[in-house]
Amino acid sequence: MFQVLTQFMCGYCDIDLRDTTGLGHGRLIARHGSPQTKRRWIPRLLAGDLAGIAVTEPHGGSRPAETRTCAVAGSDGTWTVTGRKTWISRLTEAAVFVLFFRAPDGQLVAAAVDASEPGMVRQPIPPTGLAGWTWGVLDLDAVKVQPEEVLHGQGMGLLREHFAEYRPLVTATALGGAAAVFDTVTARLSERKTTGDVHRLRDSALITLGRTHVQLATALLGAVMASQLAEGGHADAELWGAATKAHGIDTANSATAELALLLGASGFRADCQTAKTRRDLSGLLFADGIHDSLYRTAGKQHTATKDTAGGITAVPAPRDQLNSVALTG
Ligand SMILES: Cc1cc2nc3c(=O)[nH]c(=O)nc-3n(C[C@H](O)[C@H](O)[C@H](O)COP(=O)(O)OP(=O)(O)OC[C@H]3O[C@@H](n4cnc5c(N)ncnc54)[C@H](O)[C@@H]3O)c2cc1C
Repeated sequence: MFQVLTQFMCGYCDIDLRDTTGLGHGRLIARHGSPQTKRRWIPRLLAGDLAGIAVTEPHGGSRPAETRTCAVAGSDGTWTVTGRKTWISRLTEAAVFVLFFRAPDGQLVAAAVDASEPGMVRQPIPPTGLAGWTWGVLDLDAVKVQPEEVLHGQGMGLLREHFAEYRPLVTATALGGAAAVFDTVTARLSERKTTGDVHRLRDSALITLGRTHVQLATALLGAVMASQLAEGGHADAELWGAATKAHGIDTANSATAELALLLGASGFRADCQTAKTRRDLSGLLFADGIHDSLYRTAGKQHTATKDTAGGITAVPAPRDQLNSVALTG
């Protein structure tokens, strides 16, 4: 919970601070890397190096199961990976990429690949928002992958587990950005009233403040809960991480759109932090999972049959019970 709330504060300062706490996508290496790979990357990541993640391909990021980037086995035990990844964030800043591709046997796998490895060709594309890191196309032209660089576990399982933990952090960051917009607007309205520019605040403005405040607070609670489920290894962690990310970012987007109107034209200046936050939030509608796919994932699980008591739609157990799941599970 501490990390989620710290990310909320980071987002309050600037949504570009979204990987400030923890290892970001490097968590995959910490959890699933071989001892050599962990020894190589974890000290660097702890010292501030960035880990990128390369999943999305030109045929569509919402279908990672259809990944086309693939490896060919060499006689010396190495693999040679070729393919194209698109819309990759941290394109030139990442020291290491967690790269998803098909192993020679066709299974989806991931490997920690040094960003300076020969054969990695980058084409940056200027983004509308989330411009704190470069973004664009990563071509893999016969990139060598050593056996110890391949992460342990099946690729789709790694993605599911990782994003169940990562999405609540991104959501909290986005909600922090929206909370800063909220504070900017309330400060501006209070100032206009104090200086006598307006005699009284319109009811419509007060209603917007009351509604958006509770929307942002409850969306943050959802992210905290999703994070706790992921930490506890709960079976519904993926569902809650996906649904609360889509809901939290949608809420942050709609609340800031509504709040920004109360700033008047001053909120439309290109150098206004509110305008930047709104551009960043629009990028998060896609990054780390496009929302129709995430809601679909959640919806699918609600309609699945499950043997556990209470069924799939049951409210997750309280935290003390989750801890015992983690300890015993
Ligand atoms: C700022 C930003 C940063 C990003 N960073 C990264 C990164 O670091 N690493 C990375 O791997 N990716 C990254 N992405 C990519 C992101 O994960 C993808 O944008 C997302 O997964 C959606 O994939 P897509 O854009 O290819 O859309 P698509 O998968 O093409 O989906 C677009 C729309 O088409 C719909 N659709 C898909 N299939 C069908 C169908 N059969 N019939 C009808 N409709 C369909 C979808 O439901 C969706 O509404 C980033 C994106 C952004 C915007």
